Amino acid sequence: MEQQSCPDCRALTDDLAAHEAWHSRLVHDIAVAVDRENKRREEARR
Ligand SMILES: [Zn+2]
Repeated sequence: MEQQSCPDCRALTDDLAAHEAWHSRLVHDIAVAVDRENKRREEARR
């Protein structure tokens, strides 16, 4: 199977659709983690 290069991170993948699904999950997880961290810092400032 021909490998494709991801337009976002340039990783080579056999299954670009699966790789992109993994990306959106990762981005979601990071967004949640950043939001949680921001709230934690907000609390600490008070
Ligand atoms: Zn990628």
